[in-house]
Amino acid sequence: MNSELDLPLERKIGKRSASVIEKHLGLKTAGSLLNYFPRRYLSRGELTPISNIPLDEEVTLIARVLSNSTRQMRARRGSLTDVVVTDDAGGSHVPGTLKLSFFNGFRAKAELQPGRRAMFSGKVTRYGGSLGLTNPDFMLLDEDPELTGSLDPEKLAAMPIPVYPATAKLTSWSIHKVISSLLQTLDLDALEDPLPQSIAGRDGLLTVADAYRLIHSPETAGDWRRAQQRFRYQEALVLQTALARRRAQLAAEEATARRPRAEGLLSCFDRQLPFTLTAGQTAVGKTLAEELAQDTPMNRLLQGEVGSGKTIVALRAMLQVVDAGGQAALLAPTEVLAAQHFDSIRRTLGPLAGDGIFGGTGMLGGDAGPDTVQLTLLTGSLPTAARKQAMLDAASGNAGIVIGTHALLSDKTSFQDLGLIVVDEQHRFGVEQRDALRAKANRPPHLLVMTATPIPRTVAMTVFGDLETSVLDELPAGRAPISTHVVGLAENPGWAERIWKRSREEIDAGHQVYVVCPKIGTDDDGDFTPGEAEPSDADLAEDASARELASVTTVLESLRQEAVLDGVRVEPLHGRQDPALKTETMASFAANETKLLVSTTVIEVGVDVHNATLMVILDADRFGISQLHQLRGRVGRGGLPGTCLLVTTLEPGHPSRRRLDAVAATTDGFELSQEDLKLRREGDILGASQSGGRSTLKLLRVLEHEDIIARARADAQRLVAEDPGLQNHQTLAAAIDDYLNPEKEAFLERG
Ligand code: ADP
Ligand code: MG
Repeated sequence: MNSELDLPLERKIGKRSASVIEKHLGLKTAGSLLNYFPRRYLSRGELTPISNIPLDEEVTLIARVLSNSTRQMRARRGSLTDVVVTDDAGGSHVPGTLKLSFFNGFRAKAELQPGRRAMFSGKVTRYGGSLGLTNPDFMLLDEDPELTGSLDPEKLAAMPIPVYPATAKLTSWSIHKVISSLLQTLDLDALEDPLPQSIAGRDGLLTVADAYRLIHSPETAGDWRRAQQRFRYQEALVLQTALARRRAQLAAEEATARRPRAEGLLSCFDRQLPFTLTAGQTAVGKTLAEELAQDTPMNRLLQGEVGSGKTIVALRAMLQVVDAGGQAALLAPTEVLAAQHFDSIRRTLGPLAGDGIFGGTGMLGGDAGPDTVQLTLLTGSLPTAARKQAMLDAASGNAGIVIGTHALLSDKTSFQDLGLIVVDEQHRFGVEQRDALRAKANRPPHLLVMTATPIPRTVAMTVFGDLETSVLDELPAGRAPISTHVVGLAENPGWAERIWKRSREEIDAGHQVYVVCPKIGTDDDGDFTPGEAEPSDADLAEDASARELASVTTVLESLRQEAVLDGVRVEPLHGRQDPALKTETMASFAANETKLLVSTTVIEVGVDVHNATLMVILDADRFGISQLHQLRGRVGRGGLPGTCLLVTTLEPGHPSRRRLDAVAATTDGFELSQEDLKLRREGDILGASQSGGRSTLKLLRVLEHEDIIARARADAQRLVAEDPGLQNHQTLAAAIDDYLNPEKEAFLERG
């Protein structure tokens, strides 16, 4: 295998460089530095457009010097050199300028003369109206002998300059220098290729040695493009082979078959259902029933729009398992949602739900006939005695269906015979959590993962690549449409008042209102829910500090004083409240006592109050697209038409208002999800739920590279079918290990 790549860096590039690299980039081995790829490439002959430069990030750019002046500082000793640079190459665009300030910048004063071209590196900040860099590093481009060497000028102008993710202390060009010397000392041609031979020779893919050379030191733009293409495919293959191996392993496991029982709980339940199942619910139900009856574990992802009725589908599957003598667990992402599932499932089950107090027999009713199933709620916030009892019921098998939060994953929770795990709203749970639950079953359990966020095919192949997919694509009949409007307070300040008048009208008509705020108090960041809650656009950050965002506390206070809402019961709900208070608040809202609920995104997922018809989202631009879509799915659930107001103080045309316009324009979750992913960064998509490993993909973009992913998936499927242990593909197997185990380096060091 590629042992040279596992060598400590200092053996290859010397102690001094190695310690700089480790300190600033955290890289310790030759391989990890070799795999530190440029983020992009600048063309030596072109100036970097200044208007596109992001604020507050380390940037590397090429610019031309316009002016250079130095003055003594008055307040303290020393001089200040101001250099103004431009991207103006005489082209048609409006030229941008950037002001560079150097304290005691003797080299800047001497070298950055008007007309010179140089590469600059530093963090862009804004002073007043103009953009600037303070004490940036720079390298002259027009006569650096080290880089220009003996190349002819034409070739030189075409030569791309790699730009590495740099830090404040380590410029991109210093990184390039170190990597160049690493390339000299490594025997690249001896490297073994992770790509199997049958694939490596295909489609003009570069050899692994050439790909490394050209990704770090390209002579033309075509060079780095071909190098990227090679590594991109390699990334896709490593990922897909890891997933194919996992699928094969899962398929080889033996589960307990949970066959439907004639005249069991499930058939009773179906008879008492107050509505007919949609065609989709019936079809998916049939698939699940068949898979549960097999002795290989079901591993299925159920996608369905908000309100498409996933819970009933899951409940029917759970009842089949209970009928067959097993237990089912439903894992919810929040306490509020777990409690709500518990209540609504108990209501839906009606007389079939045993409460355990009056002698419900739970799953151990066996085949004595359809009796009842004991439902148990298990969350971290239960009082100790209740929690202990719930755990006891799960462990003894008394509880047929256990509904809970992360508490279900705790070491202390065990089951008598766990047959089915249902994970609701999967985007909050990663593979590891799925596995932690699976480990609680005696034999591999059946697994149903449900998500309301529609997922494009390639993302499904990547993030949920170990699951088969089913889709519920219709809403139950009688679902009323939701109309969504962007309310721009910047252009219409008077509308603020109209929102509360409108709320009053809903309430007077007997309905209820949600008001959602991005923050809890005046000095916090709201309820952080991993994965989804972060706004998706980088440009969100910039204005956050400048304006005061709506918070639950301040909005609550002002609404309680609001004349037009006189006599209306308004209550707060957020993640930092005592769980008992949260439950109480939800109950009073569900009972239509509380008319207006001021909350954070705790209500985002799954909360189901049919009488709510108006959703007001304040500072809506602070939320991501799929979050807004989830939020508005809370209204219009009971056959009453729903309205969602996306309130913003941003000016029309502000980039963040694009998201609001997108959400207002369609209720098609799939369309929105595409839009969302376009605006998001890749890391957010894969996030913690990325299959297996925590490392992020470097070159592969799950939305853009659908063809590559599909092709790699087919290749991976074939490789694993032919050679499940990857015996003949050791280098690929090692690459998968690296991918799944990015912390391996740390172990190496200790070993
Ligand atoms: P989601 O897919 O968003 O989790 P739910 O399962 O919470 O949706 O269902 C939303 C509501 O629709 C619930 O109140 C549920 O009882 C109701 N529902 C589910 N299936 C049907 C159906 N076939 N006909 C009418 N109402 C249904
Ligand atoms: Mg749901």
